[in-house]
Amino acid sequence: MALRISVIGTGYLGATHAACLAELGFEVIGLDVDQDKLAALAAGRVPMYEPGLSDLLVKHVVGHPGSTGRLRFTSSVAEVAEFADVHFICVNTPQRKGEFAADMSYVDAAVDALAPQLTRPALVVGKSTVPVGSAGRLAERLAALAPAGEQVELAWNPEFLREGFAVGDTLHPDRIVIGVREGGRAEELLREVYATPMAEGVPMVVTDYPTAELVKAAANSFLATKISFINAMAEVCEASGADVTLLSKALSYDDRIGGRFLNAGLGFGGGCLPKDIRAFMARAGELGADQALTFLREVDSINMRRRSRMVELAREQCGGGFLDRRVAVLGAAFKPDSDDIRDSPALNVAAQIQLQGAEVTVYDPRAMDNARKMFPSLSYAASPAEAAVGAHVVLHLTEWQEFRELDPVALGAVVAERRILDGRNVLDGPRWREAGWTYRAMGRPS
Ligand code: NAD
Repeated sequence: MALRISVIGTGYLGATHAACLAELGFEVIGLDVDQDKLAALAAGRVPMYEPGLSDLLVKHVVGHPGSTGRLRFTSSVAEVAEFADVHFICVNTPQRKGEFAADMSYVDAAVDALAPQLTRPALVVGKSTVPVGSAGRLAERLAALAPAGEQVELAWNPEFLREGFAVGDTLHPDRIVIGVREGGRAEELLREVYATPMAEGVPMVVTDYPTAELVKAAANSFLATKISFINAMAEVCEASGADVTLLSKALSYDDRIGGRFLNAGLGFGGGCLPKDIRAFMARAGELGADQALTFLREVDSINMRRRSRMVELAREQCGGGFLDRRVAVLGAAFKPDSDDIRDSPALNVAAQIQLQGAEVTVYDPRAMDNARKMFPSLSYAASPAEAAVGAHVVLHLTEWQEFRELDPVALGAVVAERRILDGRNVLDGPRWREAGWTYRAMGRPS
């Protein structure tokens, strides 16, 4: 009989994972502690914006006309424990307040709630991003709390999906990494879960717990470093009059370097990279290996300096101060094709500028509801043009396709001053200049 699967935590990662496993043919049950989220998902509504996820949800969720009925949601841990052979833990692991370390309380709570209900053989699979050493600790916890004892196993299977491409990345990942203990059934069961992508040629790396946990931390550190590397080059370009976009283009032709993640601009944000590199540094410190990762401190600082630099450039464009100035901010999500505003560079810049006295109006195609909740004192507009009315400077801070397609002539008719700062280095500068705008980007000559 086909494996039955539970997904514990149905946020960006869990909701996608649950819907994709239903798409792969499994019976899936999703569990969360957030009743509103569960109600939305059960009604076939995705409570966040993720391209393609809504279609998968309605295709599979129980009770939706014409659905396969393979996917349902519950708040009952007992129901999940009774139902599933494999439980994926997909709960959040945010940065602890005032510290670099990861807050493991949600993972611990999920395992503590599930374990005492496991009266039959089960595999618990951690997907959340956790400090190295967590899987070993959680395996002991499971063994101590689960009535089925040794028949309950733990595996670690880090997740590499990108928001905005989450469905494609889950169904067709670059690789599958699993950390297991020798002698168990975890590998065999996970090969069954991932049989379809593996049949398409997706490689699986089977290793121990700490290596699997570290692959995720290392991948995020590498990506963050690559972004901060090019942003450090942007700082030097600004100081020397060079153009970082051409520098980056020239570098990208070198196969050893490659062009991806090499666009200079406002830097990275979101619910993963910033907190993950900080948690990695904190964990390395606990292990006595802190020196190995001191460079990540610099990666973090370069990244945060980009935000201050954008504020500085905006202040310059406003004539040296923000009082009585209107600033239009295009973008609120931390990246395009997402409504996620966790540690969003765009909103961080908007809030800093507002604190310094400007009237700031924000527009984003998808992230307005989340932004309003988190930053209620900012003003919000229903379109880029509405945000730009009377603006002394327009800031382009999230690279949505919609912003690339803006008409500089039309926008020029509503602003107070035709000044635009391109925080993502993707707008067509000559076109904006032709329409009478002062166009400035990061790391490029003015
Ligand atoms: P999220 O905040 O969107 O979702 C987490 C969900 O878990 C929430 O719905 C929350 O209510 C639920 N939850 C918390 N405690 C619970 C409990 N005890 N039982 C059941 N549900 C519980 O977070 P996310 O972005 O989906 O990230 C989840 C994990 O995956 C994190 O560790 C993150 O670092 C990792 N990750 C995320 C991404 C991404 O792009 N979002 C990519 C790779 C890895």
